[in-house]
Amino acid sequence: MGTGAQKSGHTHMNCERCGNKTISHQMSFFNTQMCCSRCIERERAHPKYAEAREAEEMALKSGNRNFDGIGLPNDLR
Ligand SMILES: [Zn+2]
Repeated sequence: MGTGAQKSGHTHMNCERCGNKTISHQMSFFNTQMCCSRCIERERAHPKYAEAREAEEMALKSGNRNFDGIGLPNDLR
């Protein structure tokens, strides 16, 4: 987990979290995984989501564009 490999240029890919095929994916706010909309929705419902977003925002403000996130909570794995 967490190789940090970026995949781009593919319309179809597998979600890096659940492995499902997906055409729409988005980077997680907890780590650098590219996730399907289902996984992103699970993140959004998580109590630590606001904290994760805030941490990302702070990192961006301080000029860190390679912030890896606060880490995926165990109950989202
Ligand atoms: Zn997924």
